[in-house]
Amino acid sequence: MQTEIARIKEMFISTQGEGPFVGYRQLFIRFCACNLTCNYCDTDYTYENANFVYSPDELLSFIKKEFDISNIHSISLTGGEPLLHADFLKRFLPMLNAKYYLETNATLTENLYEIIDFIDIVSADIKLPSATGINNTFEKHDAFFRMLRTNKNLELFAKIVFDENITEEEIIASTNLAKKYNFELILQPKTQNNEIVPSINFVDNIFSKCLKRYNNVRLIPQVHKFLDIR
Ligand code: SF4
Repeated sequence: MQTEIARIKEMFISTQGEGPFVGYRQLFIRFCACNLTCNYCDTDYTYENANFVYSPDELLSFIKKEFDISNIHSISLTGGEPLLHADFLKRFLPMLNAKYYLETNATLTENLYEIIDFIDIVSADIKLPSATGINNTFEKHDAFFRMLRTNKNLELFAKIVFDENITEEEIIASTNLAKKYNFELILQPKTQNNEIVPSINFVDNIFSKCLKRYNNVRLIPQVHKFLDIR
């Protein structure tokens, strides 16, 4: 369902806790709904659960009234899957003079095309079937990154959340994608109850295997879980 009305779960200023931009102050806008159903998803952001139902003008007024965004690094468009709101974002994003950081599951290529001109940084997820329970995501990721690289040379990196079920095929497919589209690959071991699930030896072994195939790989756990921030 795409409309020019946004259904938003929450908005807050906090610190980015994942990936190479960890530690930057951001305004987070968390949009409702997702097109995927990952096994480990702990979000409950259906359209019906929206706390804010806003037009672009209404959201602009709300942000100006509620938040001081003069010192933030960027605005994080997150979810759920924010690209489900591409029609809304196409109207809203040019209204604010801000840097936009898109957090996406990297499967909705046509929706990204609608708003790519306004985006500065893309934090993409590569969804591993072993962790998500969803198959055939790599074809969608390939189309997503191809369109992105063809249309704009913005900052791009991709994260993979993995546990002890990660396979050799997934390591090969993920590093191949990163190599093909020239982006930094972030390994993010699955975290539960503020603890990293796979053993440190296992994590280190996966890190080494990825580095043998592609040298632009970094291991960055979910820092916000240890800092106990959103
Ligand atoms: S892509 Fe993200 S929001 Fe969507 S189901 Fe997977 S973990 Fe949940």
